[in-house]
Amino acid sequence: MSIYNPKSLKAEEFINHEEILETIEYAEKNKRNVELIDSILNKARPQKTEHGVHCEGLTHREASVLLACDIPEKIEEMYKLANEIKQAFYGNRIVMFAPLYLSNYCVNGCVYCPYHMKNKHIKRIKLTQDQIRDEVIALQDMGHKRLAIEAGEDPVHNSIEYILESIKTIYSIQHKNGAIRRVNVNIAATTVENYRKLKEAGIGTYILFQETYNKESYLELHPTGPKHDYDYHTEAMDRAMEGGIDDVGLGVLFGLEGYQYEFAGLMMHAEHLEAVHGVGPHTISVPRVKHADDIDPEAFDNSLDDEIFEKIAACIRIAVPYTGMIISTRESQEVRGKMLHLGVSQISGASRTSVGGYTEEDRPHDSEQFDVSDQRTLDEVVNWLMQLGYIPSFCTACYREGRTGDRFMSLCKTGQIQNCCHPNALMTLCEYLVDYASEDTKKIGFELIEKELNKIPNAKAQQIARENVDAIKSSNRRDFRF
Ligand code: SF4
Ligand code: SF4
Repeated sequence: MSIYNPKSLKAEEFINHEEILETIEYAEKNKRNVELIDSILNKARPQKTEHGVHCEGLTHREASVLLACDIPEKIEEMYKLANEIKQAFYGNRIVMFAPLYLSNYCVNGCVYCPYHMKNKHIKRIKLTQDQIRDEVIALQDMGHKRLAIEAGEDPVHNSIEYILESIKTIYSIQHKNGAIRRVNVNIAATTVENYRKLKEAGIGTYILFQETYNKESYLELHPTGPKHDYDYHTEAMDRAMEGGIDDVGLGVLFGLEGYQYEFAGLMMHAEHLEAVHGVGPHTISVPRVKHADDIDPEAFDNSLDDEIFEKIAACIRIAVPYTGMIISTRESQEVRGKMLHLGVSQISGASRTSVGGYTEEDRPHDSEQFDVSDQRTLDEVVNWLMQLGYIPSFCTACYREGRTGDRFMSLCKTGQIQNCCHPNALMTLCEYLVDYASEDTKKIGFELIEKELNKIPNAKAQQIARENVDAIKSSNRRDFRF
């Protein structure tokens, strides 16, 4: 039997099966222990410090007790606290991004994904550099500035050289006032050497979903291909960090295994990164199993209802306050709307989950990775967010200023966010409105910017932001940032 050790570099010790089972048992036993629940909620509350606001976060055991709790008033309190924490660090900003599928060739056998190797009737496509150029121009013309590139695992079709060349192509395209300023990368677990190459290519976050933390289920769900190696996959973030990538994005595919198990595993993974590398995950994604070609979500008996899904989001926000949380267009407008209140800080908009989908007039289905529930245009999503009182942000400033890893975290921790993220959100939203928005979205947006500029606490920062907003409106000058 292996022993739980968050500092270990061995998967089975930092994601420890016995510790997860004990955590679930402990949470179940204490799910109505009001005294304990109150003390956990109090520990997690934002505290004022001389620099701003500090949040302590929670251990995987404490967070699991909150997740298990079924007392309605306490759940209400949790949701309120999640929102409070979100307000403290993210304000009303929501960062926008889009996925870009480069290739759906894949040698793995993941049973929940239509790109699995044995699926012979799905159309296989790998974009050429010219096709990538066309896709990126289409994304720039929508207003996107931040992409997450996706590719199946295939050493021949999707070699690291192909990925690196594609990143270079994406960054090089300047179409009208458009630019992709941050490329996050979601590709298979790889070597330290390859992670170093990705870092040198200027990637933002390296994203790799664990899919499931339960090793036994993992081996069954990934019966063939290199991804079958649970330890290699689970230890990937440590290799990425060793290769110099200090912004990493975690995620599980909810629905494959019991959610309590996944949640505890996710929290332990975050604790492990903090313990070993001194910096927790930059983001956590919360996808759920969805219908796709050759895939029936009903076949997975751990599917989650919306209520539990929302509780998971709130508990993540409370437990890891400095970590961004991402929700994709797998979810409907209604679910996305609710999750925003509970701590989601980044959403995708107008996504096409097929290879080459952005240059097609109609949404193609023959190479999609999953069905998209929220099919609105980016303009519609931006408009909707503003009507709900949020500021859609296209900010990529930290990446561009080299504020990654713990330097990004110290921005959060020293309370400079309101003088930094807030004006950046307003300036990038202004760019979007001037260059891409519909008349109605422009009207709502400019009024919002005017109102929100007044909320920048530092007078000098407020004045500079105002001048920059005016410059964006009256000229082609772009890419202002704090
Ligand atoms: S989840 Fe990723 S690795 Fe698995 S089959 Fe799909 S594309 Fe391939
Ligand atoms: S300033 Fe940095 S932390 Fe703030 S929104 Fe921009 S990229 Fe994110």
